[in-house]
Amino acid sequence: MSMNTDFNELHGLLAIVQSIDVGVVVLDRDYSVEVWNTFMENRSGLLPSQVCKRSFFELFPEVDEDWFRRKVESVTTLGTPSFTIWEQRPYLLRFKNYQPITGLEDFMYQNTTLLPLKGIDGRIDQVCLIIYDVTDVAINRRQLQAANAELQRLSSTDRLTGLYNRGHWEEMLRLDYARHRRYDSQAALVMFDIDHFKAINDNYGHQAGDAVIQQVAGLIRENLRDSDVAGRYGGEEFVVLLPDTDKEGALMFAERLRYVVEACEVRHEQHRIRFTISLGVADLSVPSNGHAQLIEWADSALYASKSAGRNRVTLHQN
Ligand code: GH3
Ligand code: MG
Ligand code: MG
Repeated sequence: MSMNTDFNELHGLLAIVQSIDVGVVVLDRDYSVEVWNTFMENRSGLLPSQVCKRSFFELFPEVDEDWFRRKVESVTTLGTPSFTIWEQRPYLLRFKNYQPITGLEDFMYQNTTLLPLKGIDGRIDQVCLIIYDVTDVAINRRQLQAANAELQRLSSTDRLTGLYNRGHWEEMLRLDYARHRRYDSQAALVMFDIDHFKAINDNYGHQAGDAVIQQVAGLIRENLRDSDVAGRYGGEEFVVLLPDTDKEGALMFAERLRYVVEACEVRHEQHRIRFTISLGVADLSVPSNGHAQLIEWADSALYASKSAGRNRVTLHQN
């Protein structure tokens, strides 16, 4: 009678394990497969008869054996469940993803629970793996992260030039200024403005003006080092922060930029447009009381370049 009840319960349990929409695998202490449910059969293409009594590691070489053994050891010695989630490891077993959601990933993301199973003598002699298909969640999350990164990029850059916009550039300057003050290192600022830009707009049209601004941004990029930070400060006004650069280095950079702009020609429709820029340079060799003051200094040096006849570089001096 009692045998019969046990058998019926077991039969019911097996039916559940077979029809449930998660993977159920039981391993013995030698890591050979004891139970392989329908979910596992469908996703792996392997029949229970093909996997039972065989080594888990031989069947699935993608499993990091050292890591998995440690995981199972802790489950069996502590007698408590353990988990692994897709953020840490995208999957335990590499199964093909049949949900054509994005075509981005062709494998199934998985969360896995490891449960200790006690034998009749009370000793833990098996572990049960429960494998969840979390591909939907993972792909949604990853798409959201990508969208957020793109939003972040868009909100920090200027549409026309792809350079940092004023707000973001100022924030970068603020952070870098603090770093340079702390470590007493060099840094310089170059600010410049296109000469007689209004005339370019008036003579050739606003679109030609835009093309000129884009050309200038391209020339800045070509002349930057990786650590330099360039921004579009205003309509036709640009700024470049040069970390770890002294005033001689900054003057050389500014002069090179002045020269390449003077030498370039923007072709727009049938026009060939030549133009120049006026630049101001400020640096940290004179004591300043904040990053805003550095901007003011570069700006006043730029203004001096304009007054002196344009197409030139001026260094701010105290
Ligand atoms: P200066 O040599 O003294 O700098 O003279 P300027 O003509 O360059 O100076 P001004 O400040 O009088 O003119 C700047 C003009 O830039 C005015 C504005 O309409 C134009 N502008 C600002 N942003 C843009 C833009 O994104 N695209 C275009 N095409 N023009 C812009
Ligand atoms: Mg101008
Ligand atoms: Mg201006």
